[in-house]
Amino acid sequence: MTASEIRALFAVASRPEVVSLAGGMPNLAALPLDALSVEVADLVAREGQVALQYGSAQGVPALREQICEVMRLEGVNADPNDVVVTVGSQMALDLVTRIYCDPGDVVLAEGPSYVGALGSFAAYQARVVHVAMDADGLIPEALRDALRTLGAQGITPKFLYTIPNFHNPAGVTLAVERRSEVLEICAEYGVAVIEDNPYGLLGFSGRVYPALRSMDPGVVYLGSFSKTFASGLRVGWALVPPAVRDRLVLAAESATLCPPSFNQMLVSRYLEGHDWRSQIKTFTEVYRDRRDALLSALETYLPEGCSWNVPDGGFYVWLTVPEGVDTKAMLPRAVTARVAYASGTGFYADGLGSRQLRLSYCYPTPERITEGVRRLAAVLEAELDV
Ligand code: PMP
Repeated sequence: MTASEIRALFAVASRPEVVSLAGGMPNLAALPLDALSVEVADLVAREGQVALQYGSAQGVPALREQICEVMRLEGVNADPNDVVVTVGSQMALDLVTRIYCDPGDVVLAEGPSYVGALGSFAAYQARVVHVAMDADGLIPEALRDALRTLGAQGITPKFLYTIPNFHNPAGVTLAVERRSEVLEICAEYGVAVIEDNPYGLLGFSGRVYPALRSMDPGVVYLGSFSKTFASGLRVGWALVPPAVRDRLVLAAESATLCPPSFNQMLVSRYLEGHDWRSQIKTFTEVYRDRRDALLSALETYLPEGCSWNVPDGGFYVWLTVPEGVDTKAMLPRAVTARVAYASGTGFYADGLGSRQLRLSYCYPTPERITEGVRRLAAVLEAELDV
């Protein structure tokens, strides 16, 4: 598809009669909007001169301290001086790629991987080599094999980009016993590790996994308030080793001068004055109900030959459809049948994924999710009948 085709498809897919299981938009209806509007008014009244002014390129110091407190939940012991606030973690992804990669360099990423990261890698002309996953996340042996194969060609990848928790789009989580193994393999081959972790606190069992960064201070950790608070504020961060930090701050400065003071101060007030931990619990309860609705609808309606994972947190189910169905070719027909999904090909740099698709359960209500899956099942049946 060309960019204009995709735009046209999304315009149709965003019509209210279409059930969109395509996007990863958080459910902000669960936020305490009244309390937040009081906070916004107070921020302008009391601290408007600072909040509406330029700020430090690295980010508001008080917020950087609070970010360290948030990461402590995942066992990360960090110095606020090593935190760089960014405009969403997407900006951190872009800057990190800019710093590490020259055109033609190789980076490793799970297959499939986050479409926004693949976009950043493509923008800097880095070549992505995918590493396979199973139900326990990235497979250490596959990582070793990829590094061996590349090594035989004289290639050392610039980094491994990994989403250890509640993966986008695969929905899986890297098993704890694999975490140190992945780090050891990367250390052995001299490959940096970029840990992208926007969903780590959104586990349905309440379990919080130890961050890779908690096991190795050399890991670059990317975090975000998009899923735990509000994506529209565009506040994310990178925790980086001191040697990388100064280059990252310079790169951030050249991109935006500084992250938005107002948004950072609002996040800081929210963390200070609101029970953000129980808000995260509220979010996960909403998402767990929606996941359950999706899984039960898949079980009820989908034709034989489909398979999917059971995510224990995050936003996504990764679905494999029967042989002969092409999820990219099917998408316009699904949209005509008033259901949208993200076809699997967007999550690979190498054209794989035509038998996969990603379903997001974060935004539609359980009833809409059920209806969406019913429509999807009918479209799949029709494809299989041809
Ligand atoms: N990484 C992953 C894995 C994501 O799923 C997302 C958002 N969909 C991002 C990064 C970017 O998040 P943001 O820029 O909103 O912080």
